[in-house]
Parts: sequence; C-alpha cells; structure tokens
Amino acid sequence: MAKSKTIVYQLSDNTKREMINYFKDKRRPKTPPYAVFQADESDTVVTLYQSGKVVFQGISADIDAAIWKEKEEYLNKGKRLEDLTKKPKKKSSIISNHETQDYYFINSIGSDEVGTGDYFGPIIITAALVNKKDIPFLEDLGVKDSKKITDDKIKEIAPQIIKKVPHTIVILNNLDYNKHYSKEINMNKIKAILHNKALSLLLKKDDLKYDLIIIDQFVNQIKYYQYLKNVPQIIKNLTFVTQAESKCLSVACASIISRYFFLKEMNKLSQDLGITLPKGAGIKVDQVAKEIISKYGVDKLKDIAKLNFKNTKRII
Ligand code: MN
Repeated sequence: MAKSKTIVYQLSDNTKREMINYFKDKRRPKTPPYAVFQADESDTVVTLYQSGKVVFQGISADIDAAIWKEKEEYLNKGKRLEDLTKKPKKKSSIISNHETQDYYFINSIGSDEVGTGDYFGPIIITAALVNKKDIPFLEDLGVKDSKKITDDKIKEIAPQIIKKVPHTIVILNNLDYNKHYSKEINMNKIKAILHNKALSLLLKKDDLKYDLIIIDQFVNQIKYYQYLKNVPQIIKNLTFVTQAESKCLSVACASIISRYFFLKEMNKLSQDLGITLPKGAGIKVDQVAKEIISKYGVDKLKDIAKLNFKNTKRII
C-alpha cells in the first residue's frame, strides 16, 4: 500500500491568494484553528494557514505539492520556495546552529524596541513571555524574524499574539523624549532604561514561568549595566543575544508587538496632522517635516519628531 506523505511549504501572499481562489469550491465545511481552509484535492488533504503555511497530506501529497511549488516559483520569479517539511531532527527552519536551539525551545522572556531609527514617532519597547506550549501556535502565525514581516502582516498577526502572550509595553512619546534627552543624548542609554522598565513591569506579573530572559543586544553587557547605574530597580540575569529576533520567539513577539503599536501611533499622528508620516530618517522624512513646519510652525516638531536627529539641522 502507498504511504501517506506530509509536505509543508511557506507560500508568498500572491500564491496564497491563488490558492484560496482555486479551492473555493473544494473546501471542507470545518476549518481547523488558524487555518484559512482545509480542502480535498482527490486524495490529498490541503490545509492553508493564515500565516501562508500550507500542508499537503495523503498518498499523492507530493504531486499536489509539486504543482503549487511550481506556481509559487512562477509567481515569484527568482525566489526560492521555503520548504518547511519536517526533516528528521530539525524541528524548525529557524534553527541553524547550537546557539539558536538553546534559545528557541524554551520558556523565555524577551524584549525588543522600535522607533529608535525613525525621526517621526515614539520609541516603543515590549517585553513578552513565550511559553513552550505556545510555540506551535506562533510558528503557524508565521512569527519569525519580525524584520522580514510586512506591515500588513504585522497588523494581521499582532492582535492574535497580544491575546496569547503575556507582555508589557513602554512608550516614550516625542515630547518626553525631547524633554529628557535634548541635553545628554545617547540612544543606547534610552534603550537600556526602557528595556529595563518593560522587563521590570512584566516581571511584576504573577505566575511567570521562564528559563531565560533574552535581550536583543544593542550594546555590550558592561555598557548596558553602566547605563542603568542610577535606576532603582535593575533586572539582572539577562542573556544578551545578537539578532535575537530570529533566534528566540519571545524577542520576535516583542518586536512584532512593538512594531504594531508603532504603526498605530504613526497612523494616529498622521491623521491628526492630515499628513502621512514616513518611517526612517531619509530625504522623504525631511520633505514631510518641511511641509509640517509650513503648515503648523516649527514648534510642532517637538511633539512628533526626535529633535536630536540630524534631520532637524537639515530642515531648519
Ligand atoms: Mn532589536
């Protein structure tokens, strides 16, 4: 008898759309959790998840998978299809070395920040706790290196993460940023203080179970604690990991939640101004800043921008 196979691919949004359309009339009445649909294609069961992950199961799974592999490659020329089919001993596509494994299948607290490279908008830092049991759920959502996830995807998955994952958020608005840091400006010190704050708030919650507290390293450990010299409550026993978003799911979640609230704040500011605020600190940002000055006066900048950035000198 032929053996049933399971093949798993990560699809791009365009292929995902095609697939939804194609299986419109083949859907099963019941949809598994976090799936868009489950459908039958002769004797293959096809399950498409919201994250773009698709699972083919059955004796002819390889044939149907090959058809969609071809489609994915045709629609996204030059991009290599991400094959998530479980290979023995390799539990996730993210795992590439020993170090990563140490931070991945654990209960962890992680923190990450957004907005420190953007002229407009606040700085947002999130600390999040991921329990081992929630790892499959987060993998299905497509929580990986959050830097590679589009803004639209962030808006789709962040609310689901927020519901599942204990977290705390610290927001430093522009007015406070400019008030406190206009003299002695050191972005790394700001980050250290805010990371520590988000972590202390999270650790105040009851019944937290975790193996490690991981921080996406932006400065070495010695400097980090020097910056916190005068802070009353310092969270020690941190594990500093570079590029932690791609190695540890709690940091990836912290990053996604931070980005989600940053997008919301930018949206709110843009609506209030009637001008869309761009991210980053480039030429486009300078143009928009000038537009804001001519509409509202130069004073407005202190409410919406980080004045110590070079942009300020360039535009005034
Ligand atoms: Mn980071």
